[in-house]
Amino acid sequence: MSARTYSFEKATRALNPTGGFLAGFSYSLNPYVGCAFGDSGGCPFCYVRTLAIARRGGRPWGSWVVAKANLAELLERELRALERSGRLGGTTVFMSSATDPYQGLERTAGLTRSALEAFIRHPIRRLLLQTRSPLVERDLDLLRWLGPRVLVSITLETDDDAVRRALTPTSPSVERRLRTALAMKRAGVPVQFAIAPMMPNHPERFAALVDHAVDRVIVDTYFDGDGAGGRRSRALGMGEIHARLGYEGWFRPGAEAELMRALRARLGEERVLFSCEGFGAV
Ligand code: SF4
Repeated sequence: MSARTYSFEKATRALNPTGGFLAGFSYSLNPYVGCAFGDSGGCPFCYVRTLAIARRGGRPWGSWVVAKANLAELLERELRALERSGRLGGTTVFMSSATDPYQGLERTAGLTRSALEAFIRHPIRRLLLQTRSPLVERDLDLLRWLGPRVLVSITLETDDDAVRRALTPTSPSVERRLRTALAMKRAGVPVQFAIAPMMPNHPERFAALVDHAVDRVIVDTYFDGDGAGGRRSRALGMGEIHARLGYEGWFRPGAEAELMRALRARLGEERVLFSCEGFGAV
């Protein structure tokens, strides 16, 4: 693992208007720039690494994280403005689109926690909290407060921990993420799995595994979910990586069909959503 650097910088705004894949949301909210889960080949499919925002002195994605030092102050101001204009109650927020809001630095920086406190003071229609990290359990007290105004969306790309180790080595284990989902469910916090992007899996076993742990699942693929019809995934070498690992049959449009069938049979149609439309159903 390369030495990772952390820094704090002032941002100019907290909420950013969305478009494209996230058009179903009013705003995205990224407490951090950079993502520690991208280190050491973690999340090789993460196309954020190719965006301008990821270029930081030529250093590799995952090796640096910048915390938005004034996030709490900015968010408070922006939510108040939405309140004054009468738009707060209809606002939906996706947190986060270009970072993981519960990566390691959040333990001490607490920016995501401060954002949840702001959303309790200024209730919006729905906050989707997207993470792969068990650290979200720390904030169960606030998530309970938010109740139906929040949806915790836990990334779980596969049910097979060998696949997880091969493709996203820096991510928490399948078993650990299942425990996090169950902790949310038991606390009455709305929770879903984002099988995004879907990786090689055992469809029937995967469906059985998620059925009792979450309210619903969203499946997304390298081709539907990269915002470019698969071009970004190909440019990141995902085809070659799958071939090298012996998973080549899984890197093709339509590879999700068997899992979709197994999930729908087990969970019922209404609990199984797909790609952009599924994420936007908040
Ligand atoms: S957790 Fe998300 S933002 Fe972070 S490296 Fe992985 S895919 Fe990218």
